Amino acid sequence: MSRTVLIIGCGVAGPVLAILLKRKGYTPIVFEKVKELGDAGASLTLMPNGLKVLGLVDLASQVLEATFPLTEFHDQTWNGATLGVSHIPSTLLDKYSMPAAGVRRTALNLGLKQSLFDNAIELREGWKLEDIQEKEHGVIATFAGRGTIEGTFIVGCDGIKATSRELLLRRGGEMEALPTYTGLTQTAGISPTPSTIKGRPSLLNVYGIGAHFITYPVSHTHSSWAITLPETMEAQESWHLYNVEERDALKSKLLLEFANWSDPVPELIKSAERMVKFGLYDRDELTPEQWHSGRCVLIGDAAHPTSPHLGQGANQALEDCYHLATFLPKVSAKIPTLLKQDLAQIFQKFALKRQPRTSKLVKGARAQGERRVVTGGSAACLERDEAVRKSWLEVDAVAAKYDNLFREPF
Ligand SMILES: Cc1cc2nc3c(=O)[nH]c(=O)nc-3n(C[C@H](O)[C@H](O)[C@H](O)COP(=O)(O)OP(=O)(O)OC[C@H]3O[C@@H](n4cnc5c(N)ncnc54)[C@H](O)[C@@H]3O)c2cc1C
Repeated sequence: MSRTVLIIGCGVAGPVLAILLKRKGYTPIVFEKVKELGDAGASLTLMPNGLKVLGLVDLASQVLEATFPLTEFHDQTWNGATLGVSHIPSTLLDKYSMPAAGVRRTALNLGLKQSLFDNAIELREGWKLEDIQEKEHGVIATFAGRGTIEGTFIVGCDGIKATSRELLLRRGGEMEALPTYTGLTQTAGISPTPSTIKGRPSLLNVYGIGAHFITYPVSHTHSSWAITLPETMEAQESWHLYNVEERDALKSKLLLEFANWSDPVPELIKSAERMVKFGLYDRDELTPEQWHSGRCVLIGDAAHPTSPHLGQGANQALEDCYHLATFLPKVSAKIPTLLKQDLAQIFQKFALKRQPRTSKLVKGARAQGERRVVTGGSAACLERDEAVRKSWLEVDAVAAKYDNLFREPF
């Protein structure tokens, strides 16, 4: 009987799950719609919960060697007044065996792709999932212009606009609207780390009037940053990776808008080598029962897409990989693969474990975005700043919040 698992999407979750499943005796094949994975986005922060899972597939050290682990969380106002500082990040390695760190998305994606080759796992780039047909003893996936492949089960790791999710919901007679635009955009850049913050690897949040700025190191020489702004969707054709002329024009515009913000904001904008703009989206939660159907299950952004304000989307996708791989039994030539009813039980157990935590985080990220970007004028912003300042004074609550995130998934 086939031990082939069809994994849709080679983003964060797909390759990691593939390696974990290969170690349990399965034969994963990863299908990716992009013809050749390469340059992608800006950056992301990996926290101990995600890095622990990357450690299981021998990728954490590669990520950590390329950057500085964070030593502090630091919140300040646009004119440089400190709202709060926490040294929790400097305690993470001792407490959870992994620190927190920023990483360039391209480096992470290419590292994950390479790890598939290193683990002799087949990757098919340019294979876009189009349809799924259930059979009693297997499942057949159809790929645009490529034909069909049969496996014992399918894992949809195809991100926020997942085809796998659409197909699963359609099977249950449901049609879902497009992902929800949160009303916020992020303009992100990668710049040489300015001398004012060199040697102090912080996750720095800067709160302004109708704008929020975040920066953290992503290598020994460079920092990533992002400006979150409220915007309508009118200019959405401008949401992409900028070429040099576009980048320089946008820099000039932003430098005017952020000229009176304190260091390191103007310097980071001025020296940006790469700039990209995104609209920020999420989706309302699915019930645990909607996470799976027959021989198909969703994980990562396909199951629980989130806006980025808590920095947990990829970390939660990695937690999913750990739990799904743990719930699935080992297989071998002697032990036949799973019956449909066994899979249904395993997938439901997985969804029941993961849905409450991820739903809460998606809602929390949405609320965090609304808190960060206050548009009600300076009085409303002063009120927001005061709330941020007070929240850092609740030391036990802050510690408990981060412990709840970082102590998982094992
Ligand atoms: C601006 C921004 C900043 C973020 N910052 C952070 C952060 O700091 N920390 C954090 O943890 N998370 C962050 N996130 C969220 C994080 O990027 C996602 O949660 C994470 O990438 C989800 O991983 P995934 O594997 O589920 O999906 P993805 O990484 O999106 O991968 C999905 C893959 O599936 C492929 N695919 C799509 N459709 C098909 C198809 N039909 N057939 C085959 N392949 C397909 C896609 O091309 C893609 O390669 C951020 C997100 C954004 C937008």
